[in-house]
Amino acid sequence: MEHRRLETVIGLEIHVQLRTKTKMFCGCDNDAEHAPPNTLLCPVCVGHPGTLPSPNAQAIRYAVRIGLALGCKINSPIFFDRKHYIYPDLPKGYQISQFDVPVCGEGRLRVEIPSSKHGDIEIRIERAHLEEDAAKNIHRNGQTLVDFNRAGTPLVEIVTRPDFRSPKEAKAFLQELRRIMRYLGVSNADMEKGHLRCDANISLRPVDERGLPIGRTYYPKTEVKNMNSFKAVERALEFEIVRQTDLWSTNSPPAQTTTRGWNESKQTTELQRVKEDSADYRYMREPDIPPIDLTDAIDEEKHRLPELPAAKRARFKDEYGFGTKDVWALTDEPSTADFVERTMSELVSWLVASPDTDGTPEEIAEAHRHALAKLASTWIGTKLVGVLAARGESISTTDLSPENMAELMRLVFERKLNNTAALTVLEYMLDSGQGPETVMQERQLSSMDDETALGEIIDGILANHPSHVDDYKSGKTVLLQFFVGMVQKETGGKANPHLTKSILEKKLR
Ligand SMILES: [Zn+2]
Repeated sequence: MEHRRLETVIGLEIHVQLRTKTKMFCGCDNDAEHAPPNTLLCPVCVGHPGTLPSPNAQAIRYAVRIGLALGCKINSPIFFDRKHYIYPDLPKGYQISQFDVPVCGEGRLRVEIPSSKHGDIEIRIERAHLEEDAAKNIHRNGQTLVDFNRAGTPLVEIVTRPDFRSPKEAKAFLQELRRIMRYLGVSNADMEKGHLRCDANISLRPVDERGLPIGRTYYPKTEVKNMNSFKAVERALEFEIVRQTDLWSTNSPPAQTTTRGWNESKQTTELQRVKEDSADYRYMREPDIPPIDLTDAIDEEKHRLPELPAAKRARFKDEYGFGTKDVWALTDEPSTADFVERTMSELVSWLVASPDTDGTPEEIAEAHRHALAKLASTWIGTKLVGVLAARGESISTTDLSPENMAELMRLVFERKLNNTAALTVLEYMLDSGQGPETVMQERQLSSMDDETALGEIIDGILANHPSHVDDYKSGKTVLLQFFVGMVQKETGGKANPHLTKSILEKKLR
């Protein structure tokens, strides 16, 4: 058995389902997920003879937007083409797609890999084109049923160059792509729901000590399909590396391009078919759709392009002082990032208006940068997200306003509420839609700041735990936390934690 150093070569093909109002070439609702089977169809999308396709302007805009975000050259004019094959889910016997003039030509995307010391990767995009989706075959009790709701759904197919060197890189790219699609507002990009579908090509190649390929650049690849989550993509590719490494080690590397499907329950890939020739789709221009000029669309979309996730992460670090880990969590969803920004802006305005601060708004924001960043990552990134998740909600669905959230955070900042009480206030705010001050008054949840009252409670606790007091005095100072806990228990979490600590320290001296 020969020992060889092998490098992994991966390329991806991703279908993004666009969230347009109507289908790609007709006026049917583009909402296949929520409608009973075969209720969203018309003569165009089921391919009746004599019907004419009419391209969806919104879908074309979305494709331009995607191309700009991926650094692609945008073509104009563009053409549509017919791709012929016969399958029960394809009503016309051909799919309207794009062959030689796609909306998006070559591009590249830089991807940061979270928690990696290797730095960013840069992935070349080969192209991205528009096409219509096929219908959905449903196999049930030995029969195949066809639901045409999905036929004609607009898709953008993104093809990368084989630039990935590990399954982890492929996964990071896909996750960044999902973020970008959500930031652009063009797709929900939910892999589990099939809004983002990924096929991966993978092969290995021998390399020398310097990492340069020995012999051929590329070897016959395996196309892996049927991966419905980021984790599945990573696992399937890891499985393929092991399988193909075994083949190389017996001097029998894959000789032909094959298609394998990921079996989620077995956690293996299984042979689907061997490709003998590249399929002949007999591409021809779609004669019913004239060339489409995109000059205006490109110009307008360029001006309308939102801040993308990578830029947002960099700015959040820079402007608010968030740490790397917090930044990933706070910018993963555009709705969360917006919520954070609006809340931060409220908090800064309040600080500026407060009699306790002076200086310009920038100076004041800078002076409290660290405290505000910590407050936001704790209260939005962890607590609010957690409380909402427990209710089956998220920041994008909640009615809670950034103004009310900022006010709650301000009360924590001013130590008028301790963390325990603030969490209770937050729950009541979500239940009632009221602001934190109203909730606190109605429920009497304000922090206990009365030094005399707290002192009396503390005296009682110390009297009841004489041995703990002795242990503390003989050096076991970690017991302070035990006493703080007792005070919080006694006061139902209302005691001001800082005041509690200082009284305890005084009394235990
Ligand atoms: Zn239709």
